Amino acid sequence: MRIVVGDEWVMTAADKLASYADPYSPGLAEDYAPSGAILPASVEEIRGVLGIANRHTLPLWTVSLGRNYAYGGAAPCLKGAMVLDLKRMTKIEAEPSLAYAIVEPGVTYLDLYKFLQDKKYPLWLDCTDPGWGSVLGNTLEHGIGYTPYGDHAGHQCGMEVVLASGEVLRTGLGAMDGNPAWPLYKYAYGPTLDGLFMQSNFGVVTKIGVWLMPEPEFFSVVEMMARREEDIAPLIDTLRVLRLDGTVPTATIANWMRIAAGNTTRSEWYDGKGPLPQSAVERLMQEMGIGYWGLRFGLYGRERVVAQKLAAVEEAFSRIDGIEMTVASYKRGDAIPPEHSTLAGIPSVDLMPLNWLGGAGAHIECPLVVPMQGAEFLDLYRRRTELFNAAGFDHYCGLTSTT
Ligand SMILES: Cc1cc2nc3c(=O)[nH]c(=O)nc-3n(C[C@H](O)[C@H](O)[C@H](O)COP(=O)(O)OP(=O)(O)OC[C@H]3O[C@@H](n4cnc5c(N)ncnc54)[C@H](O)[C@@H]3O)c2cc1C
Repeated sequence: MRIVVGDEWVMTAADKLASYADPYSPGLAEDYAPSGAILPASVEEIRGVLGIANRHTLPLWTVSLGRNYAYGGAAPCLKGAMVLDLKRMTKIEAEPSLAYAIVEPGVTYLDLYKFLQDKKYPLWLDCTDPGWGSVLGNTLEHGIGYTPYGDHAGHQCGMEVVLASGEVLRTGLGAMDGNPAWPLYKYAYGPTLDGLFMQSNFGVVTKIGVWLMPEPEFFSVVEMMARREEDIAPLIDTLRVLRLDGTVPTATIANWMRIAAGNTTRSEWYDGKGPLPQSAVERLMQEMGIGYWGLRFGLYGRERVVAQKLAAVEEAFSRIDGIEMTVASYKRGDAIPPEHSTLAGIPSVDLMPLNWLGGAGAHIECPLVVPMQGAEFLDLYRRRTELFNAAGFDHYCGLTSTT
């Protein structure tokens, strides 16, 4: 291994391996400790590493950057596996007229954003909340963002993979050397293979094509507040119609606690045991000026098109009693403030603080995938609230509609 990648890029000493431990392990981080890490810099080096690993039946755990914090970090799921860390592979190429980039595993959202800015390409990327992650790693994990390109796997086109045998596979039109449509058209003859390498570890992905959004002429951020728990049903049903007819792209909804938890602590509203009583929730919403539900999305395109979409949005949501709507609009070139940056694909590393219980905050997410049907969701929400409350917790709830 040392001959293949160079002595300094094979790590086995405990101090060098510390960054590969899961920093937020719910159990003991040692239960998932790797025996070492290898950092190849090219496809050829990866092929060499795989050949040796195969000969010695050495399990490998691939990470692009290993910043999958709160989902295991860089730690392998099998104790003693070696981490194949691809952070040294950081090439980016892009074609502005065709609105795509091809990235290697070590490229973060921040890197891609800076690349596009430095080149002055009029293209927006779609990023996750924290910009530290790998564009490729996040796409393989079916990650999501907040612009119309928020379904990352859906906007990936063309993939290069090193298989366990050491063979290099290029999906779609990449099978033909130098085919310029590789990052533009997903299909070729026969089955589409890209999905096989997402959330699977069936191969080491070394490159993907990513579609980028042409910088819109106009961009509006729409935010709404609905006052009552039951408002979620018409909110979802109204949103569904506008999502399906193409008026609204990716949208997010948060309940009162998700909105409040970043700005206040529970003890400011209630110091008893168990979940907040309804009276305390009412007081919190009143004094913080928030709704029971908050809905947020961006509208993008030519100014006149955005105005038409906005009119349709206002008309549709005004049918829900008591709904309050605010709109912030930006022309091409305007500075976008931090609170709207992810909706404009501007990555950051400033995370929302979560301090609900006081001290170092944390939350555990148990996301469900459900159809966008208001009455069914309200029933589910109430059943989940009962479960959380029975365990003494307040219900922290967020919804994302991406695909
Ligand atoms: C507070 C917080 C907010 C977050 N918000 C979001 C969000 O808004 N949207 C979102 O999508 N995520 C979000 N995340 C999750 C996380 O930030 C991203 O998923 C991040 O991109 C993962 O880190 P990474 O890119 O370094 O992936 P890695 O850790 O490198 O990879 C993740 C996994 O993908 C596989 N993999 C990676 N690279 C390869 C490869 N080259 N070949 C084969 N398999 C590979 C491996 O199984 C690996 O374990 C959030 C996390 C936190 C803590």
